[in-house]
Amino acid sequence: MKLHEYQAKEILRRHGVPVPPGKEAHTVADAIAAAKELGGDFFVVKAMVHAGGRGKGRFKEVVSHDVLEQVLAGAPDVPGKGGVQLCGGATHDEAVAKVQAAAECMLGNTLVTKQTGIEGVPVKTIFVTTGADIETELYAAILLDRQTSRLLLMASTEGGTEIEEVAEEHPDAIHKVWADPVTGLGAWQCREMASKLGLQGKAFKGAVKMFRGLYDAYLAADASMVEINPLVITPDQDVVALDAKVTIDDNAVFRQKEIASWYDSSEDDPAEVEAAAYHLSFIKLDGNIGCMVNGAGLAMATMDIIKFYGGEPANFLDVGGGAKKDQVKAALTIITKDPAVKCILVNIFGGIMRCDVIAEGVVAAVAEAGLEVPLVVRLAGTNAEQGKQILASSGLAIIPADTLADAAEKAVAAVGSK
Ligand code: GDP
Ligand code: MG
Repeated sequence: MKLHEYQAKEILRRHGVPVPPGKEAHTVADAIAAAKELGGDFFVVKAMVHAGGRGKGRFKEVVSHDVLEQVLAGAPDVPGKGGVQLCGGATHDEAVAKVQAAAECMLGNTLVTKQTGIEGVPVKTIFVTTGADIETELYAAILLDRQTSRLLLMASTEGGTEIEEVAEEHPDAIHKVWADPVTGLGAWQCREMASKLGLQGKAFKGAVKMFRGLYDAYLAADASMVEINPLVITPDQDVVALDAKVTIDDNAVFRQKEIASWYDSSEDDPAEVEAAAYHLSFIKLDGNIGCMVNGAGLAMATMDIIKFYGGEPANFLDVGGGAKKDQVKAALTIITKDPAVKCILVNIFGGIMRCDVIAEGVVAAVAEAGLEVPLVVRLAGTNAEQGKQILASSGLAIIPADTLADAAEKAVAAVGSK
């Protein structure tokens, strides 16, 4: 689960990590009010989207397609204003006026970064934060090293640059220490890291405290990644997290109730959000044959066989082993909402799942949502006969199939004849 920067910083702040004060805003008026409340003459306005590279991103409504192509190619010095705008002025009022202009530039517009693709993401929330003066930009992250099954503190002197680039061009600049699973990340390891980064005095102490805080936050929030890029040292030698990317382990979200309640699903595919609400595993794909299958393996096999017969699946959908009528209905409704779907293939192997339950769900969904595309159904296993009878007596124009191959062939033929 991805968090926005302001949410990530709230978690870090609670674990003693110094972050510049700030406030999120949804309107220009709120952004101005936030700046006035923060005070001072140097702010940074940041677009809250679940994608990195915002500073070098550009707004679709503002720049030409050509410029967006440069953003995607990672070109340096792309013209225009990005998703991170520094708003400094000679006076407080001058800086606030710049915050207003930045908010007007961002809110409601679509930000394209190297990570979003050309379609970009709409900016609905911005973060108004106090600007920091930078002497040095560093990089720090806590992540799970799957090879050693240990948490890894990784840091580098090449802050502000994407870590993948640093890894390619200056691998020596990346330092790593591994936390002991029993005793955790030792204070000595934090000192070792600060020393490897060449820090001294107040900055050394600040970095040690920072690493400790990042590690504590990672554990407490059940994160799968905490990344600070850039982690800066100010001219006063304060160590501050200027950016923060925190991802929560999806398997632990159930026990992170507060953090889970912060989740912003507005950037997700609406069909995937709806599917998640019904505990369905759904992934939207580019084809035109909608699939409803029980079991991830069977769903994969169904997609494979559709492709084998020359078709393209419109989605991956696993209704799970013990799906109820409501879930089946929700699944079918989600599939039929996709305008690209020209045929639906229901492939159920009744093990724990009973085929009559599936059939009832199919009939209920069609009765409610209607069905404008051919529906191929293959039922096998527990109560398959009852299921087939329910479908046959429903009066629906269902194309029955006996085997997986038969079902796929009929679905591909149905699409072809459309
Ligand atoms: P990203 O582009 O999505 O990674 O967003 P960041 O928050 O990392 O901001 C991009 C860049 O803007 C940083 O690498 C900094 O160079 C710059 N920046 C961000 N906040 C500040 C700030 O408070 N002061 C200064 N001087 N620069 C900042
Ligand atoms: Mg950054």
